[in-house]
Formats: sequence, structure tokens, C-alpha cells
Amino acid sequence: MIVVMKPGASEKNIQHVVDLIRDYDLKEHIIYGTDRTVVACLGDKRMLDKGAIENAPMVEKIVPILAPYKRASLEVKKEKTIIEIGPEKFPLGGSKVGVIAGPCAVENRDQLLKTAEKVKKAGCIGIRAGAYKPRTSPYSFQGLGVEGLKILAEARAQTGLAVVTEVIGLEQLDVVAEYADVLQIGARNMQHYPLLEAVGKINKPVLLKRGMSAHLDEFLLAAEYIINGGNTNVILCERGIRTFEKYVRNTLCISAIAELKDKTHLPVILDPSHGTGHAHLVGPASAAGVAAGADALLIECHLDPEHAASDGAQSITPAALVELMAKVKRIAQAIDRSA
Ligand code: PEP
Ligand code: MN
Repeated sequence: MIVVMKPGASEKNIQHVVDLIRDYDLKEHIIYGTDRTVVACLGDKRMLDKGAIENAPMVEKIVPILAPYKRASLEVKKEKTIIEIGPEKFPLGGSKVGVIAGPCAVENRDQLLKTAEKVKKAGCIGIRAGAYKPRTSPYSFQGLGVEGLKILAEARAQTGLAVVTEVIGLEQLDVVAEYADVLQIGARNMQHYPLLEAVGKINKPVLLKRGMSAHLDEFLLAAEYIINGGNTNVILCERGIRTFEKYVRNTLCISAIAELKDKTHLPVILDPSHGTGHAHLVGPASAAGVAAGADALLIECHLDPEHAASDGAQSITPAALVELMAKVKRIAQAIDRSA
């Protein structure tokens, strides 16, 4: 971190900044330029609140040098993290692009088992579906709870697909971890720090969704909470952010995929369903995501989207999923990957 002094800062102003830096057990390195002086802080700056120095007299700005997230950063770990998913141990983050598909929610046994069969046949690696749903309205379908988890486990036993399902709170963590292969932390919970710390202590991969108003640094710092708990198997999922645009449910940030792949060793995946909100946009958005380097796609697929209990408008049919898989394969090949 570098403290840039305003032009005309006196020796007293500079000394005050040096004293503050030393108060935090850091060392200073002062560089006197022709117009201004900068003071570099050397040492472990994690406990230093940059606001503490920013307000000192004649300080112009603080410039961070290293990423605020450490263990998620490519600066610290140069090799990509590959996470084995599900009973078939799909290597997520490797050269092969995986697709995880399924309904927004487990609605009943028949629906989920039939969907899992189609998802498997289409060539996917995992089934997604919420047993606990974080719904905007308390009057909407809230999910089947433990019954839904048991159905998901049955689908895994029948197909070998990895089960990806959401944990919405600390109360449900143990039971979800008992049944799931991958613990999904939803966009609304990206900053639920006690939950992040708790999944950090569980020996299962975590699929962390980007909060709907989160900057990438905030997203990566949320991943850092999980890694610091001891769980390095974190999958980052871009799912669109809130903007003024109303045509789409969320504004899908394709550049975030490429940027995250540049900044972190963790696998980065894309959810084009929540990212667009419309079934007809899921194919094009998936194509763009794979082209931008996504390691996997998380797709909502429903047997009968018109009668889905949640997120029907953005759910594609199993037939559309088959088409999408063919497209994903072609695009993966074009960028020297496979699917
Ligand atoms: C979901 O995957 O169904 C979901 C609720 O996603 P998000 O947290 O991205 O809104
Ligand atoms: Mn959904």
C-alpha cells in the first residue's frame, strides 16, 4: 500500500503518516519526488484500516498494491485450483467445460427424477435444484426442505450426477451438507459472513454466487472467508447484477468471467438463467460465457417451464438443453477446450 501525499506536504505531515504506519507495526519507505512525496507501507497490512491514514493531514490518496484478497489470488497461488465434483469426480477448473442443469426447485419426486435422467442423457455433470429456496415473497413456494434433499440423493444414486443445492442459512447447513455434493451459497447470502465461515469448515465444495450488487473485490473477499475457514474448494459463479435495465432480470457480466479468471486460481462458472431471466437468452449467454472462459455453466431446466413452481420464465426445456450442449461443445473446441 502506498500513501500519496498532497503537493506541499510538510515534513511534519509526512512524519505524522510515518508514525501512524509504525503504530500498525509496519515499516515505512519514503520516496521524495519533485512534486510530491509518497510513503510505502511495508509488512502485513491486514489489520490496517486504510481510512485511518486517508484522513491524516495532507494525504491525497491511498493506493493498494496487492489485491485485498490473498488466498483466492493468482498472485499467491499460481496453479489453477481443480475441484472434483460428485461421485464421478468431474475435474471442475480443468480443460473440460462442465454443465450442471436442473429446475430452480425440487417440486416433487417424479419431476426431479425425470429431469435428472434427461440432464444425465444430455451429458451434464450435475443436477441443480433447491430444496430450500430464498424467495423474495414469503408467500411463494419455499421448497420441500429435507424431503427435497432426499429426492436429490435418490437422483444422484440413479444417475451418478453431482447434487448442487443451496444452503440458505446456518440452521440448514448440517442437513444440506449431509446430502449435497456441492453447497450453493446464493446471491442474497454472498455477504452472510457467519455462513461463509461455517461452510469454510465443511469438507465439501462450495458454489458461491456473486451478490447482485457486489464488486468483484467484494466477491473475492467473500470467497476468502470460506478459504480462511479451511475449505479451499470454492467455485465462483457469475449470475448477473442489478442495473437500471429492465428488459433482463439481471445484467449478465460476461467480462467478469474473464476478469475473475485473470485474478484468481478458483474455478469460475456462469449462471445464464438468473443472469438473463429469459429462456430464449440462455443459449446465447451460455455461448458467450464459455467463449469468455467459464469452467462450467449452471442452467435452470424444467420439464414443463410453464408450470414451474419458480423461475419458469428462465428455465429451458430438456430438448433445448440438448441443443445447448451441442453448441457448448463446439465453442469449447474453438478455444482449445472440450465439453
Ligand atoms: C438459484 O440458483 O435458484 C438462485 C436462487 O440463485 P441466485 O442466488 O443467484 O438468485
Ligand atoms: Mn432459480
